[in-house]
Amino acid sequence: MAGEPQADCLFCKIVAGDIPATIVRESPNTISFRDINPQAPTHVLVIPRVHYANAAELADNEPQLCGELLSEAGAVAEQEKVDVTGYRIVFNTGAGAGQTVFHTHAHVLGGRDLQRLV
Ligand code: IMP
Repeated sequence: MAGEPQADCLFCKIVAGDIPATIVRESPNTISFRDINPQAPTHVLVIPRVHYANAAELADNEPQLCGELLSEAGAVAEQEKVDVTGYRIVFNTGAGAGQTVFHTHAHVLGGRDLQRLV
């Protein structure tokens, strides 16, 4: 069923508290924690507590929550003080784009010079 926890999902296990994470911010519907393999001084993952495979699937099923996720990403950037210098929000979508965990997550990256991608 859409949004239901998946037994084999790493991020569902973090939501359940079964796997530890360095949580920097929580809201009723989201959790933000530090990436285990940071690619920038600030590298935080913002996830919905409910399970959807990617951002588009979340947006299709729960558009309000998708907006909330982006608000939380902005709040993380402020909290980490990277909002002034600039930061990047990334949703890798699909294995060919580098997605390795199939539970919606926004990467919030900042604190270093970020090359323009597009
Ligand atoms: P993706 O490659 O866009 O799917 O991003 C998944 C991210 O999850 C990668 O940047 C990983 O470093 C990160 N990651 C994997 N396992 C953990 C963990 O247990 N805690 C925090 N981050 C993790």
